[in-house]
Amino acid sequence: MAKQNKAFKFRLYPNKEQKIQLAKTFGCVRFVYNKMLEERKETYEKFRNDKETLKQQAFPTPAKYKDEFPFLKEVDSLALANAQINLQNAYKNFFEGRAEFPKFKSKKNKQSYTTNMVNGNIKLENGHIKLPKIKKPMKMNRHREIPADYKIKSCTISKTKTGKYYISILTEYEKDIQSVKIQKVVGLDFAMDGLYVESEQGEKANYPRYYRQALDKLAKAQRILSRRKKGSARWEKQRLKVAKLQEKIANQRKNFLHHKSKELASTYDAVIIEDLDMKGMSQALNFGKSVHDNGWGMFTTFLEYKLKEQGKQLVKIDKWFPSTKKCSCCGKEKEMPLSKRVYECSCGFVLDRDHNSAINIKNEGLRILA
Ligand SMILES: [Zn+2]
Repeated sequence: MAKQNKAFKFRLYPNKEQKIQLAKTFGCVRFVYNKMLEERKETYEKFRNDKETLKQQAFPTPAKYKDEFPFLKEVDSLALANAQINLQNAYKNFFEGRAEFPKFKSKKNKQSYTTNMVNGNIKLENGHIKLPKIKKPMKMNRHREIPADYKIKSCTISKTKTGKYYISILTEYEKDIQSVKIQKVVGLDFAMDGLYVESEQGEKANYPRYYRQALDKLAKAQRILSRRKKGSARWEKQRLKVAKLQEKIANQRKNFLHHKSKELASTYDAVIIEDLDMKGMSQALNFGKSVHDNGWGMFTTFLEYKLKEQGKQLVKIDKWFPSTKKCSCCGKEKEMPLSKRVYECSCGFVLDRDHNSAINIKNEGLRILA
């Protein structure tokens, strides 16, 4: 039996009093995070030339601020503890060279906090959820049941820019998953202007038309916003419009990625992809935001757990594997500038550039699986 995790997300409908308590908690979490970051930053500046001493410096904890700032005692202490864990992880990623120095949290960003299940402090009852330090159970739109044998581990409560509240409930359950005998395999080549090209038919998975239209609409709305006077009533109205469109687009993207990953996970026993470093890639290619917005990272996360749930596999091949340079027919390699859309080999083989890459990715995956 293996332990599995699954998250369930629901809309929350807090009453007036609960909204106040949630706002307080978001605020305290941000406050403590920024306080700890400030201290960590000072420590870092002080010892940055002496990595060994720097490593030995204790990380600030939320507890130390509670005397000076007694309002911190009024909110869920687990939420504050999680702020510390988040900051520690962000700092560790920076320290080990995977990320930039953590940034201060601003009220403008999406607001959220995470709390944990400890001694039954979180309870589900009659379409409501009881959370620590929140008076009365909160109304929730439970559109799907959480199976009785799924144990709640933690909850993340968030408020979007348009003022909607959500809760993501992380659960753990035990499942006996039998590995599937791998017969049907597909390779996917990441596509800059879509999602991917697959190895079998060379078909391109592209975002639906309504999604791309929504993106155009957003760009237009953002242009209007930039022309309005910041802080004015008309600006505020437009800001809300932009935020609503952004939320709608994020949902559409997520639904599309769920749909595509589900389709692949039910059709194939193994999916082969390249282990791309998106951040490095967008910098190197100067594509900026478009690579991030493409949703590849989210897509591969969905794909991985959907395959795993069925005892299937996601195989990531080395990012340095020459998938674009190689002829998938004879194995010879040649330079392929980005402008060249068709792969033509001296062996006579001719194929769409991305389709050729997808086949190479699949073959490399088959080699690893064998
Ligand atoms: Zn060839």
